[in-house]
Amino acid sequence: MKTLTILKPDDWHLHLREGPVLKNIIPFTSEYFGRAIVMPNTKIPITSIDSAISYKKTIVEALPGSSKFEPLMTMYLTDEADKRELISGFKNNVFFAAKLYPANATTNSSYGVKKIENLYEIFELMQDSGMPLLIHGEVTDTEVDVFDREEVFIDRELSPIAKRFPKLKIVLEHITTSYAVDFVQENNIGATITPHHLHINRNAMFFGGLNSDFYCLPVAKREKHRLALRKAATSGKECFFLGTDSAPHLRKWKAFCGCAGIFNSPVALESYLTVFEEENALDNFEKFSSLNGPKFYNVPPNKERIKLVSKPNKIVDFIDVFEQENIVGQIKPLHAGETLKWQVDGIVN
Ligand SMILES: [Zn+2]
Repeated sequence: MKTLTILKPDDWHLHLREGPVLKNIIPFTSEYFGRAIVMPNTKIPITSIDSAISYKKTIVEALPGSSKFEPLMTMYLTDEADKRELISGFKNNVFFAAKLYPANATTNSSYGVKKIENLYEIFELMQDSGMPLLIHGEVTDTEVDVFDREEVFIDRELSPIAKRFPKLKIVLEHITTSYAVDFVQENNIGATITPHHLHINRNAMFFGGLNSDFYCLPVAKREKHRLALRKAATSGKECFFLGTDSAPHLRKWKAFCGCAGIFNSPVALESYLTVFEEENALDNFEKFSSLNGPKFYNVPPNKERIKLVSKPNKIVDFIDVFEQENIVGQIKPLHAGETLKWQVDGIVN
C-alpha cells in the first residue's frame, strides 16, 4: 500500500461560521491541521480586538477536548477600519492578518470596502509592522462579467497596491485564473489555492441543471485556468500554499438560495492529494500543505506528522449538523458520493 508521511498541514484560509455549524464542523479541521487562518466574515464581522478575542474563545471551546489546534484570527477591513485597533491587535497577537473584502464580493461581505484607496494609509502601517494583508481579489462592479472579476481586480486594484507597497505581505486568496498564477509569481506575493478549484471548472455549475453545489466565489473558470492552477499548486513553488476556503452552508440555504461556498474540510487533504498524484507531484505535497505557508508567514512548521495512505475512501453524501441531540440541517461536502483514492491514517509521533 502506498503511504505518505508529512508534517502536519495548516489551512491558511478557512470559514468556521458560528453556532451549531461551527461546533459540528470544527473537528474536521482540528483533527489533521495544526493551525488555520479563520476568516472574519461572521454575520457581524470581526472588526475589533474584543470581537476577535470572543470569536476565538468560541472556537476554542468548540474544539474536541485534547485538541492542540490553533485558530489564527483576522480583522475584517471596512471603510471605517480603526488603524490603532488593527495594529495594536496585530502587535498583541490577537490578529494574525487583516482581510480585505471588496463590498458585496461574497457571503457576509456587505460591510466590505467600497473604495480601496481609502485604506492606503492602513496598508502603509501594515507594511511597516509586517502585518499580512489577505485579499478576496474580485471587483464587484456589476458591469464586469462574473468570470472576469479576478483579472479586472488584479489590474485595477491589486497591481497598484503591490507597486505602491512592495514590502507589504500580500496573499491573493483562492486564486482561480492563470492570470492570477502569473501575477503572484511576478510580484512576490503569496496565494492560496482551494481543492475545488483544482477539481472543477465552470461546467460543474451546470452539471445536471443549475447546480449550486459547485457555486463558490470566485466562481470556477474555464478548463485552461484549472490546469494552470494544478500546475502552480503542484509545482512546489513557495508562493503557493494550502487554503481550503472551506465554507459550509446548510443544505436548505445552499439548495434554495444558492449561497456561494463549498464545504471541503472533511476531504480536503484527500482531495488535494488526488490532484498531486494525478500530476505526478506527490513529492511536492508537503511543501504546498505544510512548509510554504509557514515560510511565507514567518512561523515555524508544525512538529507532528500525519500519515496518508492510498486506499479507497468513499465520501458521504451529507454531514448531519446537530444541536444538542437534534439534527438541525445537513451540509454536502465536496466529492459527495465519490470514492477518492487517499485517506488520512492519523497522527504519527
Ligand atoms: Zn473565503
